[in-house]
Amino acid sequence: MRAYRHILAAVDLSPEGREVLERAQDLAQRYGSMLSLLHVIEPLPVDAAGEALLPPMSIESELHDTAEQKLRELADRVGLEPSRRHIVMGYTKREIINFAEQYGVDLIVVGSHGRHGLALLLGSTANAVLHGAPCDVLAVRI
Ligand code: AMP
Repeated sequence: MRAYRHILAAVDLSPEGREVLERAQDLAQRYGSMLSLLHVIEPLPVDAAGEALLPPMSIESELHDTAEQKLRELADRVGLEPSRRHIVMGYTKREIINFAEQYGVDLIVVGSHGRHGLALLLGSTANAVLHGAPCDVLAVRI
């Protein structure tokens, strides 16, 4: 079987992100793959006129700082170097797929569920990534 060369762990910074990253890292070690870690910050809500409902600049930079700190804690636990950690702004499903296409990812690892709850058999992000991904997708059962 062909080895994976580049594995992407996409995490939402919930406590389950650890399980997703640890599974991705284990696979990366087995296959000798490059490992990337991605968190997406979604755009702030706007009203019907397209006006931000919250003061955008300060909130966005606060969200970014918090995400950076949480991602650092997560990545440090498994010794993932800073250049392999990525935070992007945008729509989660689209950004995960964009990242995979842009950086030649051949396996995306996500959690079966995240902060959007356990109502569905497969959470909305995992489902959307599965349908749009250019490569294999592993949904770690949460
Ligand atoms: P959910 O759609 O909220 O049930 O999330 C399922 C999984 O999608 C999570 O366990 C993560 O692996 C991934 N995911 C959700 N939100 C994000 C995000 N903002 N950035 C990166 N990955 C995410």
